Amino acid sequence: MLLVHLNNRVSSMTIATLRFITASVIAFAFSSPAAIANVSYTEAGQARPAHTVTFDKGAFTSTNDTTFRWLGMAGFLINSHGTTLMVDPLLEGFDMDVMIDYPIQASKVPTLDGVLVTHSDNDHFSLPTLQKLTAHTGFHSTQYVHSLMQQQGFTSAGYAPGDSFMINDIEVTMIPVDHAWQNAYPGTADREFKNEDSTGFWIKTQDATIWATGDSRLMPEHLTYSPAPDIILFDFSDSEWHFTLEGAIKLANAYPNALLLLHHWGSVNAPEFPPFNGDPAVLFSSITQPERIKVLMPGEAFSVKNKQVVSH
Ligand SMILES: [Zn+2]
Repeated sequence: MLLVHLNNRVSSMTIATLRFITASVIAFAFSSPAAIANVSYTEAGQARPAHTVTFDKGAFTSTNDTTFRWLGMAGFLINSHGTTLMVDPLLEGFDMDVMIDYPIQASKVPTLDGVLVTHSDNDHFSLPTLQKLTAHTGFHSTQYVHSLMQQQGFTSAGYAPGDSFMINDIEVTMIPVDHAWQNAYPGTADREFKNEDSTGFWIKTQDATIWATGDSRLMPEHLTYSPAPDIILFDFSDSEWHFTLEGAIKLANAYPNALLLLHHWGSVNAPEFPPFNGDPAVLFSSITQPERIKVLMPGEAFSVKNKQVVSH
């Protein structure tokens, strides 16, 4: 936390130097240089994935495990025994400077059994992307985002906190979040936002229970789910409208055996914007069992079977 505190008060040149030193020290201290080696830094000191692993229709064929691929931004492809889901896919058309190569073009996605969208912010609800997926699949989200999808003519369904639904043999439950940031900035929206306009997803596959947290401030109930998730799609953005870095570390340590698949970092060139400028290196010194932190490259496959990692 001291490092974060300092970072708010030093120049970007110093941040770059400090982060380089920090990454080096942490890599040495925790013997996980392979993970850290995949992180590179922009001239302004922002962490980014070192490369993208492109994939094609082969990633959508039947498997005998549950395989994750980070899509960059907040997006994931989950293929569980041939049932394919995307969470918050953004594969083109973002309105800020994207600094990764996307691992697949939206138009090349061959099939999907469902798309889960956590909320209406355009880094999660990407109309340019979803318009190219709509021929294959239906979309699942909150009642509010469902109403936006209906305006677009999409096939969609909307749910309330606590609701569950099935996608083939995968059970998905809506998890509460606190992310109605629009209300704090008059003029941002022409409506009053409610917390239930956004969601997280609790996804049960044959192989693991996955918590896609969505974007949220930390809520007390986030720390007490039982049974614990096996895998958390982990947002550690140090933003007051997200968990904050301190809150993310608290959440991770509340579930000390959960694998942490990082996202929401390294994708948008925005070194001074906390929702997008997370640095995986700062996690390794604060999270218990830091070897469970998985710094995936966009498109890199990560597979789990019966709660055990089978490849990485
Ligand atoms: Zn976001």
